[in-house]
Amino acid sequence: MISFSQVSKRYPTGHEALGGISFDIEPAEMVFLTGHSGAGKSTLMKLIMLMERASTGQVIIGGRNLNRMRASQIPFHRRQVGVVFQNHQLLFDRSVFENVALPLQVAGFHSREVGRRVRAALDKVGLLDKEKLNPITLSGGEQQRVGIARAVVNKPPLLLADEPTGNLDPALSAEIMKLFAQFNAVGVTVMIASHDLALVRRLRKRVLTLANGSLVHDGLLPEPQVGG
Ligand code: ADP
Ligand code: ADP
Repeated sequence: MISFSQVSKRYPTGHEALGGISFDIEPAEMVFLTGHSGAGKSTLMKLIMLMERASTGQVIIGGRNLNRMRASQIPFHRRQVGVVFQNHQLLFDRSVFENVALPLQVAGFHSREVGRRVRAALDKVGLLDKEKLNPITLSGGEQQRVGIARAVVNKPPLLLADEPTGNLDPALSAEIMKLFAQFNAVGVTVMIASHDLALVRRLRKRVLTLANGSLVHDGLLPEPQVGG
């Protein structure tokens, strides 16, 4: 589903954010991306979404080589990738329903199909009864779940989340991670950038660790050493 082969990214400033990264993620895998601030996590995700292009190396997503993707194909590619942000980027002048409906309207779905799919997505995140509310009236955890519903409403095969629990307390963070695991369980490939190592460790999934733009770990995190 995701294949990076010797991928480097140098920004126009001259800063090399990623240097020669290689890894493969199979369909329906769930992986975490960790590393210090500035390690290159967001850059890696931007390459997958084609918000940035690799300077060298190959990025292949769902069998499509992004290096060769034409501008006209980019909107189609982006619809295959659901994205969840830390600050959820909801529109506070629209209802929960309208926020989740946006990607479908952009994609040109008929209103009856929009309604069906939006309600299916809100149901999956447990917010079916809040569709008419303005998201500003919801709690932080609920707002994040609206963001997740919006990310999955197109049924993308790949879901990316950049620090999705950054503003939430541990109990809410665990709930949000459970939601991602549920999407993963029905076949969605999930990649989550997080620096909450305690939470990541508990979920016992594959972890990619970046440090200064290099991949320094790929696999389960070792168990914490208890006592001596
Ligand atoms: P992380 O998400 O792990 O915090 P980023 O991918 O955001 O890391 O950043 C990696 C490095 O690239 C940092 O040193 C950051 O300052 C730099 N960087 C990120 N975006 C840009 C940009 N648009 N232009 C120049 N440098 C950037
Ligand atoms: P329909 O396929 O008729 O639109 P649903 O929206 O309820 O019905 O989804 C059918 C199944 O597809 C559910 O089990 C759902 O969890 C699963 N599914 C597969 N991929 C995704 C995705 N990216 N987002 C949400 N659900 C998904």
